[in-house]
Amino acid sequence: MKLEEVLYQRFKYKTFREGQKLIIEDVLKGNDVVAMLPTGGGKSICYQLPAYALDKGTVLIVSPLLSLMEDQVYQLRQKGEKRVVAINSFLSPQEKKYVFSQLKNYKFIYASPEILQSKWVVDQLMVLDISYIVIDEAHCISQWGHDFRPDYSRLGEIRESLKNPPCIALTATATNEVIEDIVQCLKLNDVKRHLYSVDRKNISFIVEKVDHYQEKLEKLKSLVQSLEGPGIIYFSSRNSAESVTRYLMDAGIENVAYYHGGIEHEQRMLIQQQFIHNQLEVICSTNAFGMGVDKSNIRFVIHFHFPTQLESYLQEIGRAGRDGEQSVAVLLFSNHDYELPELLITNDLPTLEQIQMVMEYMSRMIEKDGKLSITRDVETRLCQENIIAETVWRFIRYHLEKASIIQHQVIHATFDINSISRYIHQKARERIQYKQSKLYFMEKWIKTDQCRRLEILNYFGEELSNKPKDCCDNCSKDLLSNNLSKYKKRVRWKPLDWRQEFRSILLKDE
Ligand code: ADP
Ligand code: MG
Repeated sequence: MKLEEVLYQRFKYKTFREGQKLIIEDVLKGNDVVAMLPTGGGKSICYQLPAYALDKGTVLIVSPLLSLMEDQVYQLRQKGEKRVVAINSFLSPQEKKYVFSQLKNYKFIYASPEILQSKWVVDQLMVLDISYIVIDEAHCISQWGHDFRPDYSRLGEIRESLKNPPCIALTATATNEVIEDIVQCLKLNDVKRHLYSVDRKNISFIVEKVDHYQEKLEKLKSLVQSLEGPGIIYFSSRNSAESVTRYLMDAGIENVAYYHGGIEHEQRMLIQQQFIHNQLEVICSTNAFGMGVDKSNIRFVIHFHFPTQLESYLQEIGRAGRDGEQSVAVLLFSNHDYELPELLITNDLPTLEQIQMVMEYMSRMIEKDGKLSITRDVETRLCQENIIAETVWRFIRYHLEKASIIQHQVIHATFDINSISRYIHQKARERIQYKQSKLYFMEKWIKTDQCRRLEILNYFGEELSNKPKDCCDNCSKDLLSNNLSKYKKRVRWKPLDWRQEFRSILLKDE
């Protein structure tokens, strides 16, 4: 059967998007592939379609976020695929037992990198006929990527344990350096590279400077009132996402809600669904929102705070205009904004005191029990008792693994608390410096008077070919006022709490 026919039959699309067919052909030939397609470019089909064309074997997909994984599973099920499952910490013991007894009946197995750290899980997967492994958001593998996940760094090894099936690494934002790191970490052989431009021509870039916080709020309000929605507003803290939502509501904008990692799972799912189904028009969110939100008609992305790297910025604004229609990315900033990202960078990394505390804690535990298995429980206790963030612990653990002090989740080697602490602290300092250099590029981009598109592309090692008409505020000064604003009358709508929502559904049925 021709690939176009499979595309139509399974996904109801008539034509491939740029890059998809060539990638799929390479996957079908059994090649290792590294592919970069812009956000919304259609990477999922690149690994889902070949599974149907091959018609045998299992595809193992590693995906970094639980919500993203659940979403992909949901979408495949919507398309009539029953042989799909996600193995992650959401599974109850009973579900886990059932899923693992059925493993070979699944066509698509999504797995979190955390769950693959378990030898037992890998042993279960080993007996399957795995056609290929997919590493989604593969930039997470690279220390130089914008979203490094230590659990990703062992995926090369895990792939070897699974008898080295072909491997497909997918990303939307990677510099050349990161691509090379992906190839090396996953030990990709004779790899086929499909690297497409990160440029999103239908998104215009606008940066607006304000003098103080109040002005920023007012500017935001007038943008939300005048720009065509739906839209997302990004914040770097949960508190500000919440308080600005209240401010917008007080200003009479009612179909807006906030979203962040601190909200209950059900409530988060509800907000996401309401946004996808156009019941909510604006989401005020931290970076927890977006990945896996399959909404094609997002018209604007506003940054109330800017992220610490251009890569993250590009991912976040890339959620706009997936339908190809004109969309806009607006970044609001004041001179006070520069302190916050600095703080975010250092907060994620351990201080020397924290490292020493953790090492002393572990050494006390070893004395008590003879050896120490780093189980989930131990990790949780360790973070709580030493009052350190999960991200900080992960950084320490990653370096203990690299130094072979932790092997297969057990502390094996003896260590000298002072010297290992100094070593890890040195690594933390290097990481902070690296992140600061990334932040420097982000800030430089905000302040530039050159074409913003050109600067982004240069950062990713690309040239700019044919500039779109509504390129950026530096290319045409009155971009926002002349071309893009469009008054919209808003319907007054108040988001319900999920309990109220359920109650209202139940009452209707009575
Ligand atoms: P990515 O992972 O690259 O960000 P997705 O795989 O989530 O993107 O796809 C984004 C959207 O584009 C989805 O709604 C998907 O169904 C749609 N899509 C993918 N391929 C095609 C195609 N060939 N034609 C039309 N729509 C497509
Ligand atoms: Mg994707």
